[in-house]
Amino acid sequence: MRYSEMFLPTGREVPSDAEIISHQLMIRAGLIRKLTSGIYSYLPLGYRVIRKVEQIIREEMNRAGAQEVFLPMVQPAELWQESGRWEYYGKELLRLRDRHDREYCLGPTHEEVITDLVRNDIKTYRQLPRNLYQIQTKFRDEVRPRFGVMRCREFGMKDAYSFDADEAGAEVSYEKMFAAYTSIFERCGLKFRPVEADSGSIGGKYSHEFMVMAESGEDAMIVCEKCNYAANLEKAEIARPEKKETGEKDKLPLESVHTPNVRTIEEVSAFLKVTPRDIVKTLIFNADGKPCAILIRGDQEVNEIKVKNYLGINELTLAEDDMILHATGAPRGFAGAVKIKTRIIADYSVMNMVNFVTGANKEDYHLKNVNIGRDFNVESFADLRVIEKSDTCPRCGGGIQFVRGIEVGHVFKLGTKYSKALKAVYLDRDGQEKIMIMGCYGIGVGRTVAACIEQNNDENGIIWPMPLAPYQVIITPVNVNEGQVLQAAEKIYKDLLFRGVEVILDDRDERAGVKFKDADLIGIPLRITVGQKNLAGGNVELKERKSGKTTIHPLQNIVSAIEKSIAGSINPVAGKQT
Ligand code: ATP
Ligand code: MG
Repeated sequence: MRYSEMFLPTGREVPSDAEIISHQLMIRAGLIRKLTSGIYSYLPLGYRVIRKVEQIIREEMNRAGAQEVFLPMVQPAELWQESGRWEYYGKELLRLRDRHDREYCLGPTHEEVITDLVRNDIKTYRQLPRNLYQIQTKFRDEVRPRFGVMRCREFGMKDAYSFDADEAGAEVSYEKMFAAYTSIFERCGLKFRPVEADSGSIGGKYSHEFMVMAESGEDAMIVCEKCNYAANLEKAEIARPEKKETGEKDKLPLESVHTPNVRTIEEVSAFLKVTPRDIVKTLIFNADGKPCAILIRGDQEVNEIKVKNYLGINELTLAEDDMILHATGAPRGFAGAVKIKTRIIADYSVMNMVNFVTGANKEDYHLKNVNIGRDFNVESFADLRVIEKSDTCPRCGGGIQFVRGIEVGHVFKLGTKYSKALKAVYLDRDGQEKIMIMGCYGIGVGRTVAACIEQNNDENGIIWPMPLAPYQVIITPVNVNEGQVLQAAEKIYKDLLFRGVEVILDDRDERAGVKFKDADLIGIPLRITVGQKNLAGGNVELKERKSGKTTIHPLQNIVSAIEKSIAGSINPVAGKQT
């Protein structure tokens, strides 16, 4: 493409809401423009990058045996009522009505539609497994759209859904998608990690989020320094400690202490001159309507997702005042495990504590020298807290690091959540009706592009990895008014086009400095500079955007040098799997 004919508005200006570098650079390099909050247009350069990501996704999804479909974006309310999500989804779901006053929504995801499709056409085990995917626009009315296309309201997503006859098959489908995602992100040239994530009450024990490592990322996770364990903070496990036995004689006599108006951990430790590590916090939760006491060491935090999963319930909130009063006999701030009228589950942090402090279940009183076994018993010990810097890897005991990342993809075992609600059943070998087992797999296309820029930029602009670059080469004639220079540049341009290289000829009558700045800003991996001085010796200069390295090449060799460089920088991961 000739630069002079391109719609490529570059600039220095950045909107004040562009907080992160990828958002700033996507505006400055003329990749996107905002229409309204969280809704963006892709300009030609940006759309080329989108198409590159989509192409890589398509190739790897097809290779993994998935088939492409294209589902409607407008979805009838009835389907969402059938799955129960019409009520549950809340305000992220954009709802609309047609001229007959029928209700619809704009699809934020497509489990309902795909399950409806499959239930009508798949009837027997012989038609399973199947994996269907699409690359389509989703709409989610996010509370806080930000970071440009990273968290917007209308965005392109690749979503795939697998249907299997049994658990073992569903596991195979999951593993295939996991492998395909690994290939996709490797081919995109990203530094990423699959991390274990929570999968709530549905599906298997975990799901995986594919995280692109970036300081600006919204997601926090831990990674092990020794083994390959990585998990997001909600999911990160803490190993069960060794149980230490305490001799009866080491247990001091239980003591009730008057602690007027002393409620919080800080107040209790100051008043009793102990540290938070000597106190056991008793938190009363409302677990699906019933009270439950969770014990944890005073300096640590409960991870509510772990509690919810452990109890296998749907709704978990801190108990209201009257539930606390009813369960403990005291107002908020004085709960303790001794003689409490609820189930008691304790975090591992409490397992080896002796002679600790707790509330006395009596207004203005606490207990000292409390001991498990002698003064009360717990139903069980479990991993219920938020991981901390001082913790170690639950798998290998190695040190852990807290890092940040951007979730670009998610692979998830759905189990029978949707197939049961929508009755997606098939006849098994023995004529028995069974429910299909599903998995779902998403990749944010625009977010992947933004994440790539977060990882690949410098003070001059974007540095595209070759596989995602909108164009692979830019030719910059230093002065287009010099006939010989322009002629040589035109010749290289035609030769590269002929070889199928994606190339821009910067034929604008601009100062060389301006053209170099734009080439750097839009991040084209290779720049050929055609100038009078080198040309006199029959040469041109080749500059790599990433390393800044320049080399001089004879005119007749430049095309093959380019081809070699491109071939060397495309990650040849494709082809590894079958
Ligand atoms: P997040 O926690 O970031 O909101 P999610 O868990 O809601 O993501 P999924 O429902 O798993 O996301 O969607 C699959 C993929 O779609 C995500 O991994 C992400 O890449 C992309 N995605 C989700 N929400 C957005 C958004 N608002 N803007 C751009 N991409 C998004
Ligand atoms: Mg979300």
